Amino acid sequence: MQIARPDTAVEEILPSVAGFLESPVMMVIGNEKVASDTSETLAVFNPATGQKIAEVPKGNAQDIDKAVRAARGALKGEWSRMRPADRQRVMLKLADLIEANGEELAQLETLNNGKSVMLSRMIEVGASADYMRYMAGWATKIEGSTIDVSISVPPGAKYHAYTRKEPVGVVGAITPWNFPLNMAVWKIAPALACGCTVVIKPAEETPLTTVRLVELCLEAGLPPGVVNVVTGTGEEAGAALTAHPGVQKLAFTGSTEVGKLIGVQAMQDMKRVTLELGGKAPMIMFDDMDMDQLGVAAGIGVFFNSGQTCCAGTRIYAQKGIFDKVCDFLADMTRSLSIGSGLDPANQINPMVSAKHQSHVNACIARGLAQGAKPLLNSGSYEGPGFFVRPEIFTAVDQKMSIMQDEVFGPVVTVTPFKDPDDAIVMANDTRFGLGASIWTTNLNTMHKYVPQIEAGTVWVNAHNLPDQNMPFGGYKQSGIGREHGRAALDNYLETKSVCIALG
Ligand code: NAD
Repeated sequence: MQIARPDTAVEEILPSVAGFLESPVMMVIGNEKVASDTSETLAVFNPATGQKIAEVPKGNAQDIDKAVRAARGALKGEWSRMRPADRQRVMLKLADLIEANGEELAQLETLNNGKSVMLSRMIEVGASADYMRYMAGWATKIEGSTIDVSISVPPGAKYHAYTRKEPVGVVGAITPWNFPLNMAVWKIAPALACGCTVVIKPAEETPLTTVRLVELCLEAGLPPGVVNVVTGTGEEAGAALTAHPGVQKLAFTGSTEVGKLIGVQAMQDMKRVTLELGGKAPMIMFDDMDMDQLGVAAGIGVFFNSGQTCCAGTRIYAQKGIFDKVCDFLADMTRSLSIGSGLDPANQINPMVSAKHQSHVNACIARGLAQGAKPLLNSGSYEGPGFFVRPEIFTAVDQKMSIMQDEVFGPVVTVTPFKDPDDAIVMANDTRFGLGASIWTTNLNTMHKYVPQIEAGTVWVNAHNLPDQNMPFGGYKQSGIGREHGRAALDNYLETKSVCIALG
């Protein structure tokens, strides 16, 4: 494992990025850039160096109230009178602006989140622009249906019935730190396609690109108040947004623990809610798998985004015939990874998002060791500036160990052998999570036999960790409620109104 100097950067910071960081970062409410009423701020850090790079307003309940009022006002204003084709046009302009400002957004994301600038370009910018365009297409395709009814009162009466799809109202969006810009777009784009308005509260660790995105919303021509951003903590701003009576729908991505709190509040107010939560994805590798795919499995399945991915393949189950080869391959490959700043695209493992998260991942590794799991690398802890963690691979793992059951959200993977595939499925499903999973086999029968038995919202075959805007995404079990992406995602942002007309 090569550890580069944490501040090594081959990319020069753009003047626009430096300018954004130097000027006070503000929230956007209506068409104004505002500080919090309290003037309190939260520090934002560069995870590669551990140094503060900006301060953002520490929004509170009053700021949330202002933002929700702005969003409610916008719901009844010019936005409600815009034709679906006009909504689509503005969304397409927003996608263009995301791309036009792509380098700035990518650098900002890497400076704030720590991830490789390659990923920032590809996912945070590229996939977000694609997502916005995909959802823009749906804006002009929302439709109800006509209904034949059998109402028999009064005798002989005739009725014409149909459904209208209407925007659900103000959406309270709360996002995590692992894909900050992309997650913001996953919430904002379907809301706009359906004619809703939005108040978004980004993660306290990574608010910068969401603030910039909301500035771009205004530049694209969205009427003021259609999208608002309040920065702040989850406990204060997030909880206030969740509980606000002016919010009709909550769109949350984050941990299962916080998701449960949000779900309880949503039920109390009968708010619509979608929860995209944690995961502990299994990757089941059969003896007949194409061994040339191990590189893809490890690179994209396990170490993508330095393991800070809800679908990360953190539990590998390898059939006995290939178990040793899988372990050897993983160990060799992981030893060859270069660890360092995301601003050097050559680095494959980048820092954890925060000092707090670095401690969490280190504690998970320590617990694995204490419980008797065998480390293949014995990587040891990282000493130095920045929030880096050395990757680790565990074998001799028991299903009950916390390293097997709890989300690590870092570059850590377990490898467990199996003989009988039915046992592998039992172990794969032995978790409270059910977000993603994968099967690695060249045998079609094996694939078709086991895909239906896996309890997960997405099962990849000979691939892992690859969502798409047209493919429903969400969790079984405690990985969430509801699905994002695809046509089905729009239903989260629409109410169905039945209209029944008595014919004369
Ligand atoms: P988190 O739950 O700590 O925070 C997520 C968001 O919730 C943040 O904006 C935070 O400020 C806010 N929040 C915290 N407490 C709150 C409260 N009491 N009320 C309202 N809001 C509150 O999660 P995180 O650490 O930012 O992100 C990592 C987690 O997100 C992991 O569990 C990961 O699996 C999950 N995740 C899931 C998906 C998915 O699509 N299923 C995608 C990405 C991340």
